[in-house]
Amino acid sequence: MHYNFVTLLSSLWQVAWVNFFTMRADYGHAVKLLIAEDEVKTGEYLRRGLSEAGFIVDLAHNGLDGHHLAMTERYDLLILDVMLPDLDGWQILKSLREAGRELPVLFLTARDSVDDRVKGLELGADDYLVKPFAFAELLARVRTLLRRGASPAAELKLGIGDLELDLARHRASRGGRCIRLTAKEFTLLELLVRRQGEVLPRSLIASQVWDMNFDSDTNVIDVAIRRLRMKIDNGFDLKLIQTVRGMGYMIDLP
Ligand code: CA
Repeated sequence: MHYNFVTLLSSLWQVAWVNFFTMRADYGHAVKLLIAEDEVKTGEYLRRGLSEAGFIVDLAHNGLDGHHLAMTERYDLLILDVMLPDLDGWQILKSLREAGRELPVLFLTARDSVDDRVKGLELGADDYLVKPFAFAELLARVRTLLRRGASPAAELKLGIGDLELDLARHRASRGGRCIRLTAKEFTLLELLVRRQGEVLPRSLIASQVWDMNFDSDTNVIDVAIRRLRMKIDNGFDLKLIQTVRGMGYMIDLP
């Protein structure tokens, strides 16, 4: 009995020890983020949220400060607003890449400005988020970018099976055939594809695609999914969008 207890303690200790070293190997240091955002409320909201999520966060309120910090300090990720006083997001990004600084950059762009997205990704941004966004979505993108590490090649395309999304141009195609989608439909499809194989509850879809928090009227989601399904799956033997009864929706290869 006593022996078993000691063995158990010793294996628990070993597990903790191994975890401790794995964590250190993964991070090696506290993860440090820089936010360049001139809207005070948004900046503070992001700083608070990301600090609570365990990151060390610096916040710059204008382009010059943001640029200076990004050039002189070591950050694991830069969250960069496009429209900034003094020096805009594009200028900062261009200058960083020209100086050979390869830290991942998450661009914050205004709604529906496709040109901004294309320009940002072509200048070497790693991902973008359209304002207004849900904090959960930002956090998910930040974590993905940190996992991936600095990647000079921007993620311009997403896909599953023969379905392909061109993120910069907001275009979708299946089997090489172009599919016309509304802005909302594209956002919905992008969310499903980014989290392929994962059942997404209606409430999550509502908050991330419609910026709504509701639990009563989920009809909007069902209607949108039905339309999307007609465009994506009609005429194909392989159905990608799946309904998981009582839980939500998922995109996956059957
Ligand atoms: Ca701004």
